[in-house]
Amino acid sequence: MHQLQCQCGLVRAEVDCRGTHNRLICYCTDCRAFGRFVVGLRETAANSGSDHPILDAQGGTELIQVAQSKLRFLQGEDQLLAVRLTEQGMIRWYTRCCHTPIGNTMASRGGAFIGLIHSCLTHPQLNADFGDKVAQLNTNTALGTPKPQQHGLFRVISSFLWLLISERVSGRYLQSPLFNADGSPRSVPRVLNAAEVTDLKKPV
Ligand SMILES: [Zn+2]
Ligand SMILES: [Zn+2]
Repeated sequence: MHQLQCQCGLVRAEVDCRGTHNRLICYCTDCRAFGRFVVGLRETAANSGSDHPILDAQGGTELIQVAQSKLRFLQGEDQLLAVRLTEQGMIRWYTRCCHTPIGNTMASRGGAFIGLIHSCLTHPQLNADFGDKVAQLNTNTALGTPKPQQHGLFRVISSFLWLLISERVSGRYLQSPLFNADGSPRSVPRVLNAAEVTDLKKPV
């Protein structure tokens, strides 16, 4: 089991790290906008700067993709909040207590996976639990030059599809801790407006 916790320790969870997973850094502008959104909340709450940066030097987010059914909250799940960049966008989960990003999911639990964001993971255990192969995706929208080299896309897509199919066929996707029995998200996502998103996507 890999241990997860928010920065203040109120939210704790564990994820079964056996089986299908992907480890990647995503440089897409949506992931970066979410990272900046959370940093903005921290600055407003004046609790910024007390943990690992969410984004790397080129604006990338490190993620571990696993099946949601492998995630189990131990405490503090009532602290989960969610945001979407658009009406149709992914649901991006974070904590109310200390604004720690938790992960990204599709809007319906049939999406079955969560991209857990490194901020809530146990850094010294990442290699042991998820391997040291880290794919790099969407590098064309990385900040600065030279751009990081894109690699690992095929492996990420094939394990992603395998995860999706096996969760659907087995019915395990119904065991997601992030969605209610009727399939609605545990926390109603706030949808950002266009001006907010444009601001978060500024090429800085
Ligand atoms: Zn917290
Ligand atoms: Zn992304």
